[in-house]
Amino acid sequence: MKFKTIIEPFRIKTVEPIRRTSFSERQHALLAAGNNLFLLHAEDVLIDLLTDSGTGAMSSAQWAGMMRGDESYAGARSFYRFEAVVQRITGFKHVIPTHQGRAAERILFGEAVNRGQIVPNNTHFDTTRANVENQHAEARDIPVAEGLQPALIAPFKGNIDLAALETILREEGDRVPLVMITVTNNSGGGQPVSMANIRATSELCRRYGKPFFIDACRFAENAWFIKMREAGYADKTPLEIAQEMFSYADGCTMSAKKDGMSNIGGFLALNDDALAQRCTNLLILTEGYPTYGGLAGYDLEAIAVGLEEALHEDYLQYRTRSVAYLGEKITAGGVPIMQPPGGHAIYIDAKAMLPHIPQHEYPAWALSLVLYLAGGIRSVEIGSVMFGLQPDGSEKPAVMELVRLAFPRRVYTQSHVDYLAEVLLYVNSIKTHIRGVKIVEQPPTLRHFTARLEPAHGALLVGLDSAEFE
Ligand SMILES: *Cc1c(COP(=O)(O)O)cnc(C)c1O
Repeated sequence: MKFKTIIEPFRIKTVEPIRRTSFSERQHALLAAGNNLFLLHAEDVLIDLLTDSGTGAMSSAQWAGMMRGDESYAGARSFYRFEAVVQRITGFKHVIPTHQGRAAERILFGEAVNRGQIVPNNTHFDTTRANVENQHAEARDIPVAEGLQPALIAPFKGNIDLAALETILREEGDRVPLVMITVTNNSGGGQPVSMANIRATSELCRRYGKPFFIDACRFAENAWFIKMREAGYADKTPLEIAQEMFSYADGCTMSAKKDGMSNIGGFLALNDDALAQRCTNLLILTEGYPTYGGLAGYDLEAIAVGLEEALHEDYLQYRTRSVAYLGEKITAGGVPIMQPPGGHAIYIDAKAMLPHIPQHEYPAWALSLVLYLAGGIRSVEIGSVMFGLQPDGSEKPAVMELVRLAFPRRVYTQSHVDYLAEVLLYVNSIKTHIRGVKIVEQPPTLRHFTARLEPAHGALLVGLDSAEFE
């Protein structure tokens, strides 16, 4: 290619206005939301990087697919189209649609995981952890050590620790019902998992007779990183790489709100006939009939098209480049981030950026609030508010205090990213004025979604004139 600029590989057919707010409007909004960005009205957010889940823009082909949706209760054409695409990519025999990823988790763990058991995973996503714990089992994270060093640059920091996995299988194997790998490793910084690591995990699982499942939410992004970074894959297509990844596993759970490029949906896919039968029975009880699983026929069409679009090379190049571009700009300005940038998000290392805020005052949460106050940006804390509350009610600080800026798919353009960089660099310049927060109200599980917080020292920002922000 003669020209090097990586462009957004789409043109815009429908636009949705976003609204600027004043500093005092944002202050009021934050107060009303109990200093919890989840409780904001989305209208009060300028650039919404809370999550890349279900927030993407659908393509004209997906919208056209929706018009073709077959809403028959049983045996709809849309289901067979969906099933065929999932089978072509994953190779799994049974495809069970669900309304989103966590429903696939709940159904799988509901049938396969029992009280007192252990599920090893490179790093459990929050709903995955909660669904394991809901079975009174232990969700055990065993990421490789380099995955826990935010500043370290390495190609596959999402890998599972194979030695730790083997120790668990050897010493506590009778309590392990299945092993999981999350690709890419969302809670571990959106870092990819190598094919070699997936293959070796599969071999260990075979040796110890354990089923191996992939949490496949970002399988296409993971395939792209394998293509870019792992020897022997440069000439393979993302589809071929994805097919090989899945070939090593016995099944997967999937949120179609991520690399399904859809606003809703998910699935559980697996090979084991008997387990699939039990999961299907539970699906009928709680989600719906097996050919729609809690989705409309048109959703199944949107997912079928989206799964294929997520594997287009132009798209994957643009997506990973947008994230890396923001990462490079703010790294150059001195903002510490999880390196190298992952596929769907930038993770700011709040522990490194705000060393003056102790972990029990939730530095990453405080930083996320300041990003909103300063620039109307909504991010999410992945730290001790999200993970600190233990099942027994005690508090244990998280390993890392991260602020995640997740990119919705095909939604924002380069000028949005330039604006983000400007705000982030500004906040970095006033970081010594930021103070910590405390929790004043919380539910017993998944507390980050609904907890209410207050500044721990009277104000979030001290020693700054609010005129700064207007
Ligand atoms: C989003 C996500 C889930 C859960 O999917 P939902 O569709 O939000 O229920 C599970 N695992 C990972 C890695 C995810 O990113």
